Amino acid sequence: MTTKMRPIRSLIGLDEARARIDAAVRPIDRTERVPLAEANGRVLAEDLAAAADVPPFDRAAMDGYAVRAADTAGASPASPRALTHTGTVFTGEAPRRPVGPGECIEIATGAPMPPGADAVVIVEETDGGAAGPVKVFGAVAPGQNIGRQGADIRQGQDVLRAGTLLTPSRVGAMAAIGRAHAMVYSRPRVAILSTGNELVDPGASLGPGQIYDINRFTLAAVVADHGGVPVPYRTAADTLDDLARAVDDCLHDDVLVFSGGSSVGERDLILDVLTTRGELVFHGIALKPGKPTAFGRVGGRLFFGMPGYPTSCLSNAYILLVPALRRMARLPPHTARTMRLPLGRRVASASGRHQIYTVKVEGGAAMPAFKASGDITSMSEADGYIEIAAETDVVEAGTIVDVKLF
Ligand code: AMP
Ligand code: MG
Repeated sequence: MTTKMRPIRSLIGLDEARARIDAAVRPIDRTERVPLAEANGRVLAEDLAAAADVPPFDRAAMDGYAVRAADTAGASPASPRALTHTGTVFTGEAPRRPVGPGECIEIATGAPMPPGADAVVIVEETDGGAAGPVKVFGAVAPGQNIGRQGADIRQGQDVLRAGTLLTPSRVGAMAAIGRAHAMVYSRPRVAILSTGNELVDPGASLGPGQIYDINRFTLAAVVADHGGVPVPYRTAADTLDDLARAVDDCLHDDVLVFSGGSSVGERDLILDVLTTRGELVFHGIALKPGKPTAFGRVGGRLFFGMPGYPTSCLSNAYILLVPALRRMARLPPHTARTMRLPLGRRVASASGRHQIYTVKVEGGAAMPAFKASGDITSMSEADGYIEIAAETDVVEAGTIVDVKLF
């Protein structure tokens, strides 16, 4: 009997794989208008200039009394200055009268300064006007305790530039200049499609030989976490026809991420589809898990053929898909939080392959958590992973390792 298996004959290194993916990536140019309340996490596609000063008027920076600073010269607890209290100005009001010489007006933090006043005496530096005129116990300088018109943002100033990632504080800056909407870059749409005759959606009951689809859900979660829009498709059967149809269905999206069928078995048809309908950039990475990975282009779209094994697929999503996706989304590169810890147990690594090895942080050490590439618990029970270089065969217990946290 002849076999139809086709072994992967040459592997490329992880750095080379990343470089080839990076060379194929183009940032998304489409833009869309989003309301302010949905702007966090998006990337601005326009410069935002202030139409007016922020704050729009001189205002009290403290609760107290609006005064003419000159009237407080030389004031001290032993020799207070008495000022005639002529009114009050609260926030959201316009001052009804100016402050004349020898006068003061009670003022709330954020209320507009009345004409004539050039400083605020904080209430703690006064007797609160308990007995007639307000006694001021300390001198203030002109401008003291005032927030000046335009001190935060000047009219006409660019507050945020195109390409900026909107964070909570930048959403705040948008609000401060009164912008209710902004143009942002559209998120890359990522078609996610599982292949395999054995796959059933969670919620259904399993027939003989069937398993639940894991990859569609792990991939969608990673995509959503890194600035993409996951677009899940129906599972494709292991036939060339169905896979070709599945590819055609996804061609409106920006990236196609298929899982399964990327290896060397008779029914691993991703490579055939990729080579007949598109262009293969590489197949096979010196990486564990994640060796049988295919990457290329179909119909002008990026195509990732991820291994079917759930841990291989998800690990690859972190290692290969996330950097590509973030560049498409114009997001800054992801920097994993890391912990430097001693390795809790000796780890033997796959010779000649860069290894992503999951660990659990336990008792101040990085404990090996990797089981097998097919086991989702290799990752779900881990806190992060260490990377073991291709040329390293063994990492001894006690070696200080950098754990990248999930
Ligand atoms: P494949 O890459 O198609 O050869 O699949 C490798 C292994 O991963 C097989 O045991 C498959 O049943 C399993 N597998 C493939 N796709 C998925 C998936 N979406 N969810 C869970 N397991 C899968
Ligand atoms: Mg399969």
